Amino acid sequence: MTAGRTRTIASPLMAVAFATIAACSPGTVGVEAARSDRIPTTTSAEPVDPPDDSPPPDDTLPSDDTLPSDDSEAQLPPSSEPEVPLTQDEIDELVAELTAGGFCDADDVRDEGIVTAMHFVVQGRLQAPCYVDQPGEGDEPADVVVDDDPRLVAAWESLVAVTPNELVSDISLLAGFEPCSTCDTLAFVTILDEDSTFFLLAVDVVAGEDDPDELRLTMMHELSHVFTQRSGEQLDVSALGAAGCDTFYNGNGCFTDDSYIWAWIQEFWPPEIRDTLPADGTVGTEDEGVDRCELDAGYTGSYAARHPEEDFAETFSAYVYDVEVDPALGAKFAFFDRFPEFASIRERARDLGFAGTESNFDGCG
Ligand SMILES: [Zn+2]
Repeated sequence: MTAGRTRTIASPLMAVAFATIAACSPGTVGVEAARSDRIPTTTSAEPVDPPDDSPPPDDTLPSDDTLPSDDSEAQLPPSSEPEVPLTQDEIDELVAELTAGGFCDADDVRDEGIVTAMHFVVQGRLQAPCYVDQPGEGDEPADVVVDDDPRLVAAWESLVAVTPNELVSDISLLAGFEPCSTCDTLAFVTILDEDSTFFLLAVDVVAGEDDPDELRLTMMHELSHVFTQRSGEQLDVSALGAAGCDTFYNGNGCFTDDSYIWAWIQEFWPPEIRDTLPADGTVGTEDEGVDRCELDAGYTGSYAARHPEEDFAETFSAYVYDVEVDPALGAKFAFFDRFPEFASIRERARDLGFAGTESNFDGCG
C-alpha cells in the first residue's frame, strides 16, 4: 500500500454504476471506462478524489493481506501463501469499519431501485447482508426481497463452489440487481477505490435465476476481471495513461511484466492487432470485434475479439466449465493449463458435474 494514499469511499462510483445500469445505457454516464461488456466491467479510469469524511484505514481490507507491497516482488501464481483466517470478532470489526466508511451505503443505490441486496465479502466468505431492498409503494409483494436475496446468495455460491478462496478474496462487496426490461447487462465489476483493492461484483439476479449455466459462466468471467487486476501484483494502478506503460494499459493501470494479461497478450494479441485497439484501454467498437472474429476462429465470439481482457475472461469461463469450443481455441486453453490455480478450478467444476456447460458464445472464423 502506498503511503499517504487514502482509500476512497464507494459512493460516487457505485451510484454511477447502478445509475448506468438502470438507465440501460452502459458507458454514457461518467464512468470513464464503463467497458461495455455483454457483461460490462464498469471501471474507474480516473483516480477518485479522497472523500471529505474519514475512509477506513488502509489496513482494514481483506485483500490487503494478499498483496505484495512492492510491484517488483510480484510473482505468479498469486497469493499462493495460505491466508490466515480472521476470527469472527475481527470479521465483525472489519465489517463495522467498512459500513462506517460508506462502502455499503443505501443512499448510493436506493434511488435507482434496482439493487436487491448487498453483502460484504471477507476473505472470500459472504457476510450477512449490509443492504436489503425493502417493500415500497406500488411494488409487487411477491417480487420484493425482505430479509435477503436468495438469488444473489445462489449466484455467489455457484462461484465459490469451484473457486479457491485466494481468487475470490479481492471481491469485497457483492450486489444483486434487477434489470430494466431492455438491459443486457448480466454482471459487472467495479473498482471502488483508487488503489484498486476494493472490488464490487454486481450480478443480475433475474437473468441468473433464469439461466444457471449462463450465470456460472458470467460469474467466472467477472471473477477473472478481478484477479487479473489485482493491484501491484497484476496491475500497476499508479500508471496514469498508456504513455510510459511498456506492457498494456487498460484504463485502470499498466499490467505488470509478470501479469496474466500481459502473458496472454504477448501470446495471443500480437502488436499489429494491439495497435488497432483504443489507446485508452476501452474495448473498442462492436464492429471491430466482429471483424477480428471473422478472420480468426481462435476467439469464443465477437465479444471476446473486441479486447484482450474480454478474450481472457470469456475464454477462461469456457475453460473452467469445459464449454465445447472451436479447436482453434486449443492454444488458449493450454495457456490456462500452465497455471495450477486455474487447472484446479476446472477440476472442481468437473468434480461437481459442470463439464460441458452450455454457452451462448457465438463463435468465430
Ligand atoms: Zn468482461
